[in-house]
Amino acid sequence: MPDETAKARRGLHLGEIGGLLAYVRPWRGRFALALAALTVSMIFGLMFPLLVGHLVDAAVPSVAPPPDGWKPDINTVALLLVGTLAIQAVLTFFYSYAFNFVGENAVARLRRRLYETLIGLPMKFFGEHRVGELTSRLSSDLALVCDTLTGTIPQALRQTVMLLGGVIAIMATSPRLSLVMVSTFPVLLLVAVFVGRKVRRVSRAAQDRLAESATIVEETLQGIANVKAFANETYEARRYGAGVEAYLETILSSARRRAGLVAFIILGIFGSIILVLWYGARLMQAGQLTHGQLTRFTLYTLFVGGAVSSFAEVFSQLQRTLGANERVLELLAEKPEPLATTSAEAAPAQRLRGAVDFADVSFRYPSRPDLPVLRGFSLRAAPGEKIALIGPSGAGKSTVVALLLRFYEPDTGALLLDGKNARDLPLDVVRGNMAIVPQEVMLFGGSIRENIAYGRPGASEADIRAAAERAHCHEFIARFPEGYDTLVGERGVKLSGGQRQRLAIARALLRDPAVLILDEATSSLDSESEALIQAALATLLAGRTALIIAHRLATVRQCDRICVLENGVITETGTHAELMAAPSGTYRRLAELQFAPG
Ligand code: ATP
Repeated sequence: MPDETAKARRGLHLGEIGGLLAYVRPWRGRFALALAALTVSMIFGLMFPLLVGHLVDAAVPSVAPPPDGWKPDINTVALLLVGTLAIQAVLTFFYSYAFNFVGENAVARLRRRLYETLIGLPMKFFGEHRVGELTSRLSSDLALVCDTLTGTIPQALRQTVMLLGGVIAIMATSPRLSLVMVSTFPVLLLVAVFVGRKVRRVSRAAQDRLAESATIVEETLQGIANVKAFANETYEARRYGAGVEAYLETILSSARRRAGLVAFIILGIFGSIILVLWYGARLMQAGQLTHGQLTRFTLYTLFVGGAVSSFAEVFSQLQRTLGANERVLELLAEKPEPLATTSAEAAPAQRLRGAVDFADVSFRYPSRPDLPVLRGFSLRAAPGEKIALIGPSGAGKSTVVALLLRFYEPDTGALLLDGKNARDLPLDVVRGNMAIVPQEVMLFGGSIRENIAYGRPGASEADIRAAAERAHCHEFIARFPEGYDTLVGERGVKLSGGQRQRLAIARALLRDPAVLILDEATSSLDSESEALIQAALATLLAGRTALIIAHRLATVRQCDRICVLENGVITETGTHAELMAAPSGTYRRLAELQFAPG
């Protein structure tokens, strides 16, 4: 992500804090009430030194009369103290819960928004970002935002009230004394701003490190079988260890700066407290101040000192959060794919007949602009026609599929669907009319029923059952004790390759697409499984246009036409018999190699 934005935003701008507060807008009523409760509670808190001062004066007959002329006895003051404490306790309960309620709700909403944005982003985006990084944004960056909304902002408000109230109270006793105190603030603030900026940059870097190491966890746990098969546990542990180390280094450097900041500010605060106390003690010596007044004085000074020193923490926490929030905002600003309808359950508004026409398409992946993948690729399929696409590895077969699904747009040339430029059709019409049976069937950790229904969320039980029967899944599903409720995936049963394939075919049948994309599995299956899959496929293919990345002779032979893709262009096209007749053709060579019997 561009560094200029980071530079532009390095300061602590009120607008950005406003941006954080904007997250709580839907709950502004409750937030305002919480603020009011907090302010009132703090005002009661500020009465504490006042009352304690009176308590001391009630005990020690003083030289000078108290300025307000009020001389209560010890018990009255003690009762008042207990009363203010009780009020404070009730108000604190109310505002603490309210701030947490608002903050957690705001972050939950932000989480949903961020996920909705993420999942709607175009494939290009996922080519440029790693999954672990994105999940880390969703968890740790948002956790920081949450802490700030529920903890730091209320704390900042509490300390502001304390600071203002304390300064006013001291000012009421001795303006000169308060001037002494307040004069130290600008220096403290300047240092806080200066160090705080650094904290923000470093903690943004730390959050990035954290995201990087999360990527390692994500990727290795996803591919745990590979890690183990290569006995690479130590290697991965070391790689992760290095990532954590990098994070640690960055976060500690941020912690050092924060520690320095806090230490400096505490030094400043206690310096001014000593100043105030010294001055106050002299006033008392001169008989201008009672014991109680000095006590009150000291307590207010401590309140003010505590408030200013916690500002340093608040400030650096805000800087950390704003660093994390920048990343969140950057993600939220990404432009999602323009799906016409947002509801996944809505049936495609427009049913296509299934004419597919790649017209002179050239394409490079946005992440690798130097490598032309398709170069003047042309392929036309009439509605209902079955086309086998074969070719050596890396020829661009999967890329053709990606373009057909409009994961990417051609650089030049066009993809026409039913004679219309696919660009002019809403994305949900294009994808809603297609189904893919991939090589690696992805099953979710849910029931078999849910996995089939993924082809058309909201499908009826009867439709799901019919699709399963036509895809020859019903036999094996019925053998499980829990039938369609059997869980698959990590904590459920493990299905064989052939069973997964048939489940994917059932899914596609349920979707009932005009165009079917079939990426045949390369691994060979036993002949019974193979026969079942072929039968299921025959049902699925009937009456639809199909683009098949074929690896089996049986499939290729059934197709109306075979296209050989080499280096991004079609080099041969024809039926099996026609292509076998060409003595030096690529198809013939591939067929003899790959499709050799056995
Ligand atoms: P195979 O049969 O091995 O799956 P294929 O014919 O499907 O190969 P493609 O996956 O379409 O080939 O890849 C064609 C070229 O595009 C390859 O050089 C590959 O490195 C490149 N490529 C594929 N996907 C991407 C991507 N997401 N970003 C950048 N380059 C890619």
